Amino acid sequence: MVKDNLKNIRDEMNNACERSNRNLDDITLIAVSKTKPNELIMEAYESGVRDFGENKVQELLRKKEELPDDVRWHMIGHLQTNKVRQLLGNTVLIHSIDSIRLADTIDTEARKKGIHVDGLLEINIAKEASKYGFIEEELEEILPIFARYKNLHIKGLMTIAPNVENSEENRKNFKKLKKLSVDIIDKNYDNVEVEFLSMGMSGDYIVALEEGANLLRVGTGIFGKR
Ligand SMILES: *Cc1c(COP(=O)(O)O)cnc(C)c1O
Repeated sequence: MVKDNLKNIRDEMNNACERSNRNLDDITLIAVSKTKPNELIMEAYESGVRDFGENKVQELLRKKEELPDDVRWHMIGHLQTNKVRQLLGNTVLIHSIDSIRLADTIDTEARKKGIHVDGLLEINIAKEASKYGFIEEELEEILPIFARYKNLHIKGLMTIAPNVENSEENRKNFKKLKKLSVDIIDKNYDNVEVEFLSMGMSGDYIVALEEGANLLRVGTGIFGKR
C-alpha cells in the first residue's frame, strides 16, 4: 500500500521534473506521518524514505525514540514556545517559525543548549484568517531582525496553501512564494538564506514542484486518510 503510493508519487515527481526541467535529486519528499503508527512509517522507511514530518512535539519525540536513528525529523506544525526546549536537537528543520516571539525563544534555548538550529519562516501566502504565519507585507520589517540571532538560522520559506478543489488554483500562491524567495535573496539579509522552499501537500505537490518547491510535505497521499 504505502510502497505502491510512494512509487506513484515518485513517478509523478519524476514526470513533473522532466516537464519543468528540474532535477529530481534536488527535491526532497517529506512523508507526513502525524497520527500514523510506526508500522506504516516503517513501510515508507523500507521504501527508502528518510525524511518524516510531524506536527506535534510529543508525538515527534516518541516516534524518534522508537524508530531508526537515521530518520530525519521535520517539525511542520505550529510550535508553542513552552515546547521549544524539548524539541530542540531532535529535528533537522523547523518549518513553522510563525512569530518573532517563537524565533526569540528558539534562539535563546538553542544558545543554552549550545546547538545551532535551522528553520523556515512560515508565510501565510493567501492571508487566510485561519492560518499562522507572516504575511508578505510585514517581511521587510521582520527580516532584518534575524541578524541578531546567533543560534537560529533561517534557511527558507514554508507555506500551507489554501485547501482548494483543483490544485491549479494554488499555482498563483506557489508562484508568489517563489517570487518572494527570489526578492529575499536579492536583498541579502544577514542570517537569512533561502535554500529551501517547503510547499505542496497531497493535493497540490505536483503544481508546487513545477513552481519551484524543493521540500514537498505529503501525508494522505502516502499513508492514506487520517
Ligand atoms: C498534515 C500536513 C501536511 C500533509 O497534508 P496531506 O494533505 O495529508 O498531504 C503537510 N503540511 C502540514 C503543515 C501539515 O500539517
